[in-house]
Amino acid sequence: MRPAFAVAALALVLSAACATPAQAYRYDGPRWPGRTITYHNATGYTTAVRAAVRAWNSSGVRMRFRAVSRRNARVLITGGHGEGCRGVAQVGFHRGRRAPVRLGRGCAYESLMTHVVAHELGHILGLDHENRTCAVMNGSGVERCGSQPAFHFRCRVLERDDVRGAVRRYGGRVGTVRRDPFCPVFGPPAASLGLTLGLAADGAVAAGLTIPAPQRFVGDAGPTIFIRLAVYRYAGACPAVAAEGPPLIVTGADYGPQVTPVDYPPGPGVWCYAFAVQDVGGRRGPVATASIAVPPRGTVHQTTRGATGG
Ligand SMILES: [Zn+2]
Repeated sequence: MRPAFAVAALALVLSAACATPAQAYRYDGPRWPGRTITYHNATGYTTAVRAAVRAWNSSGVRMRFRAVSRRNARVLITGGHGEGCRGVAQVGFHRGRRAPVRLGRGCAYESLMTHVVAHELGHILGLDHENRTCAVMNGSGVERCGSQPAFHFRCRVLERDDVRGAVRRYGGRVGTVRRDPFCPVFGPPAASLGLTLGLAADGAVAAGLTIPAPQRFVGDAGPTIFIRLAVYRYAGACPAVAAEGPPLIVTGADYGPQVTPVDYPPGPGVWCYAFAVQDVGGRRGPVATASIAVPPRGTVHQTTRGATGG
């Protein structure tokens, strides 16, 4: 079934859930003349539209999408296709008619909307659904594209099949596609800030520090990646290379300023503590170290500011 957005002879295809039997990179609709397709994006999906356009324009296909004023655009991208991460588009070129692409409202996943727009631009180019393989033109989404690791997004927008289809139609050369289809949503843990150590009345050691939120590479909704704090202890001065081997403790941690207990009374002397924030993806931030002098009677005293190193 093909849900149609029937306007005269326009063939319009929904991006979602169309079980169109297909050959590889199936065509539908007439090919566009020339080498440029002008478009205007009248939605708020600025980043997603740019990313989708960039994917097609850098794919090797001898056809470019170019942003122009609404008045001069041959393709007009608007909202008005219901709610969520979905779209609908004209398939191929139709003379004398501005080609519509309509997107759903309120999609909170920038990476998903990038794929939706890339899919609809594929329809504009005249590609139909290819449901047998992993393709942006697969009408059922990415179910044939392998499972996505946690806290990753699908950053490879176009698949070879998509580009091959468009190249067969418009010429050009199938460029290299990124080997890993997935990219992390978040950067690795950043350096902790303001590390201090303090002694409680019973001689226990606590650390105060601020763990900055990680960089977010794509504007997707969803939770921030989880982190833990690994604590290492050394007698005397801090070693040149700290936070290696088994830690003293590993404790849950939050982003932002916090005070966390790190050690029972370690006994009198000078102690070095090293701190490494690690996320559930196994990535570590820079190691921060601080020392504290514990007096013989274990009374509350000295705090020492820490340092952050590689
Ligand atoms: Zn579609």
